[in-house]
Amino acid sequence: MKPAKPTAPNGDFPEADDATSAATIKEIASHVEAIINLLGEDCTREGLVKTPMRAARALHFLTRGYRQNIDEVINGAVFATESNGMVSVDDIEFYSMCEHHILPFFGTISIGYMPSGHVLGISKLGRIVDYHARRLQLQERLTRSVAQEVAREAGTTDVIVMCRAAHMCMRMRGVQKERSETVTVETLGRFATDPSLRMQFFATARGANLLG
Ligand SMILES: [Zn+2]
Repeated sequence: MKPAKPTAPNGDFPEADDATSAATIKEIASHVEAIINLLGEDCTREGLVKTPMRAARALHFLTRGYRQNIDEVINGAVFATESNGMVSVDDIEFYSMCEHHILPFFGTISIGYMPSGHVLGISKLGRIVDYHARRLQLQERLTRSVAQEVAREAGTTDVIVMCRAAHMCMRMRGVQKERSETVTVETLGRFATDPSLRMQFFATARGANLLG
């Protein structure tokens, strides 16, 4: 599934929706302007006049996980079940920013868990991924955080999460293997101790290669 798209009348990142955010974005923009000038550009040039505000809105949106409440984000969509077979959802798209360079990393997350009386709606899994991706992140921590959140929300101890991602800080700096992807896996409960259960998950999780 795709994460929620930013909505703004002009197709840009969203405007601030409260006074605190508006003030924060304005202040970020002043720093972005200073950075652009330090890079040797001229912020009064026509094409750049609106760039500090645009970039500030983008940064604010791409880190909105910090300002969200997880209980509100994933409210509802828990269903009772008597089944105890593995539930898995493949290839949830995500976009995040690496905490080392503040450059994008993005890819897909596949989630598997053994239900213990409850299953989560697919949209809920997408919102869990989004909440943890929209901040400065490490791929390893993103993978672990999603696994722990799914365990908590589904009330189960048995969760596996696989994340495949491309990191712009590697690709854009011209490291060889430009097309390589980084794969991280987090296992909780029986997925950590039972190889056959892991095999069952990997047999269904395709782990799509987004960049071909
Ligand atoms: Zn990086």
